[in-house]
Amino acid sequence: MRGFHCVDPSHGRIDFTGADDEELFEEIKAHTTKAHPDLTDGQVRDMMAGADWWRSMATSAQNSGSSPSAYDK
Ligand SMILES: [Zn+2]
Repeated sequence: MRGFHCVDPSHGRIDFTGADDEELFEEIKAHTTKAHPDLTDGQVRDMMAGADWWRSMATSAQNSGSSPSAYDK
């Protein structure tokens, strides 16, 4: 299983899981479409891959506590 979690002032912590990265992407995408409509598919994939811009957001300020990348679960 693969996992990822999103922390935001608007919804607290939400955990996502998927059998593989593709299923996990679909779970995250279903959430971001509603909660973070500005995020593109490419940005969501960057977040799962642990891109530098997301790592710094996930470890500071309002998104602090989010997972810096997708992980094995
Ligand atoms: Zn979120």
